[in-house]
Amino acid sequence: MTCAGMQMEGELEEYDIVVAGGGPSGLFCALCGSKAGNSVLVLEKMPSCGKKLLVSGTGQCNITHDGEISLFLTHYGAHGRFAKPALMQFSNHDLVRFFHARGLEMVTEPGGKVFPSTRRAGDVLAVLLRECACSGVDIHCNEPVLGVAVSRGGFEVKTKRTAYFSPHFVIATGGATYPATGSSGDGYTLAASLGHRITEIGPALSAVRVKEFPYPDLAGMSFEGLHITVMRQEKHICRNKGDLIFTHHGLSGPGVLDISRYIRPGDRIMVSFAPSREAEEAAKAVHAALVGGGRVQVAKVLRGLGLPDRLSKGLLDLAGVAGGATCAHLGKDARNAIALRVSSHPFEVEALSGFDRAMVTRGGVDLDEVNPKTMESRLHRGLYFAGEVLDIDGDTGGYNLQFACASGVLAARSIAGVAKKRGLP
Ligand SMILES: Cc1cc2nc3c(=O)[nH]c(=O)nc-3n(C[C@H](O)[C@H](O)[C@H](O)COP(=O)(O)OP(=O)(O)OC[C@H]3O[C@@H](n4cnc5c(N)ncnc54)[C@H](O)[C@@H]3O)c2cc1C
Repeated sequence: MTCAGMQMEGELEEYDIVVAGGGPSGLFCALCGSKAGNSVLVLEKMPSCGKKLLVSGTGQCNITHDGEISLFLTHYGAHGRFAKPALMQFSNHDLVRFFHARGLEMVTEPGGKVFPSTRRAGDVLAVLLRECACSGVDIHCNEPVLGVAVSRGGFEVKTKRTAYFSPHFVIATGGATYPATGSSGDGYTLAASLGHRITEIGPALSAVRVKEFPYPDLAGMSFEGLHITVMRQEKHICRNKGDLIFTHHGLSGPGVLDISRYIRPGDRIMVSFAPSREAEEAAKAVHAALVGGGRVQVAKVLRGLGLPDRLSKGLLDLAGVAGGATCAHLGKDARNAIALRVSSHPFEVEALSGFDRAMVTRGGVDLDEVNPKTMESRLHRGLYFAGEVLDIDGDTGGYNLQFACASGVLAARSIAGVAKKRGLP
């Protein structure tokens, strides 16, 4: 073990572990590394750590999700398998226990989201910072890592102030969204400078701007359990069932956010507004209800299928049907037009909200070049990655913070050679 910040004259300051980034992944890694007996330095670019953590869950911090960890794996797009070892060795239950043991209780919402009982992200950060301080982790804020070079069987880490040497360097600099929090993509540059491939990055957990969005007046209207399908020309891209919210310019809500990693400008998002009914079933139900509706007003029939009146009004306007029309008034073309808009309403994607508004980044350090069992680079011994800088992004619901924390812990445990699960950190 190296004494913290040990430095001989003319030599670089030396630590067992240097971590770039004081977000949840970096702080968990630092804490766990320090508890295992290492001297640890966290270099944080911003004046204080955890700025993104503080805005997470609108400041309430949805830190993880309830349930079996095996069920988590479907919540990281195609990359759940990579996340498995990290999540298994530091699970959602471990995370909850960690905070409980330090006096911060967690509560689970009916849908499974887990929050601190105080509903304050600041309390989560305070526990982490207090634990790091008690364990002797050195944290240098306002000291961005500017570069890193392989040297003497370790890494020379350059900052604006000085340079450090460490046999273990952890890149935990986050993604590239919400750059005002400090996560502006530096980790990709650092990793690339060491020869790592970076897959294409883009905004994810991102609202969608719709071309000529027809319902700006309904902004704020929310829907539960809708079937949503994404098409690219005639190709089916993905589908989801989830809640949707209209914004002034398009679509948001978990049902869209969770598949936004797959959505590109020009795609069509098809929504079945009949709750819980897939397109085909919804179309049949609309046809049957309209044909059998007689003198009942069309809007009333649609209400019976679960559509809010204000949406029905907008939707009938688009289909060219007068508001007060009864089912008996409708010809076949009108019935088809209504059924299409209820069961498979098309929205053309103009854009995704940009890096400044999206919650996470898709893409990042190529997972083929990182060992999922250790978080160590396959290119350089002693180089590790943790958190969002990797090409992995989770759904809404606490999956991103869980992976950030778990991957930070795994990196530290690998460095310490602690293969077996321990009660730590
Ligand atoms: C508005 C919003 C709400 C969110 N809500 C949730 C939620 O409720 N639940 C959930 O699971 N996820 C949520 N997320 C996502 C989650 O916050 C991130 O996935 C998570 O913070 C990633 O942790 P990280 O440690 O990998 O990176 P970050 O938290 O981004 O931390 C990286 C740190 O590295 C620092 N850094 C960057 N470059 C350098 C450098 N060159 N040198 C030194 N330091 C550097 C940054 O300043 C930053 O402090 C939300 C994100 C946003 C933007």
